[in-house]
Amino acid sequence: MRILVVEDDAGIASGLRTNLQQRGYAVDVCDGVASAWGALRAERFDAVLLDLGLADGDGSELLRRLRLSPPATGAQSTLLPDPSTPVLIVTARDQVHQRIAGLDLGADDYLSKPFDVDELDARLRALLRRAAGRTSPTIRHGDIEVDPAARTVRQGGKVVEMSPREFSVLLVLLEARGRVLSRLQIEERLYSWDSAIESNAVEVHIHHLRRKLGSACIQTMRGVGYFMPQGVAP
Ligand code: CA
Repeated sequence: MRILVVEDDAGIASGLRTNLQQRGYAVDVCDGVASAWGALRAERFDAVLLDLGLADGDGSELLRRLRLSPPATGAQSTLLPDPSTPVLIVTARDQVHQRIAGLDLGADDYLSKPFDVDELDARLRALLRRAAGRTSPTIRHGDIEVDPAARTVRQGGKVVEMSPREFSVLLVLLEARGRVLSRLQIEERLYSWDSAIESNAVEVHIHHLRRKLGSACIQTMRGVGYFMPQGVAP
């Protein structure tokens, strides 16, 4: 899952990046409204952590522009910001009227600084769960059960060990709920700008996932991408 952190305090930004990366997220950081808008136009993020007091403007302006963007379509999906991207405001402004204004502007949640990073992660998981249309904190697919909070995978009740990247690929495919994702779409969700991507990394992770979970659990649509068939026990 890929997160955009919009934060002008370099210390907070780097702490968030480190903490979230340890929890398996791909993290990109922007320090202002203009750079964040550019990032949202160029890439797909699963959620945005948004500071309000930014060097070149107010984060609420970015949120307003995002929510007013036209709905993204397949053809434009890498050129326009996705107005449905979940946004969690993380700010020093902790007055009730400021929280209300932020939520009414289209934020999905609001957290005041100083914050506890475990609480931030729990709120982020809740946002991602809602964005994926899930009500349960765990994801079930046939006999596979994934717990995003504990980062565990079970199949038929037995724990299946996997690397952080394999776990991330599995989560991205599960959250797509049967939609076909191209290799590029999967890479975009796994890697931040500054990470090196080996050209066949996604193929290798999928090969390992098939070996561990059964070859039928992830299908290839030749020339298009990968998907997990719905309603079939793998
Ligand atoms: Ca700030």
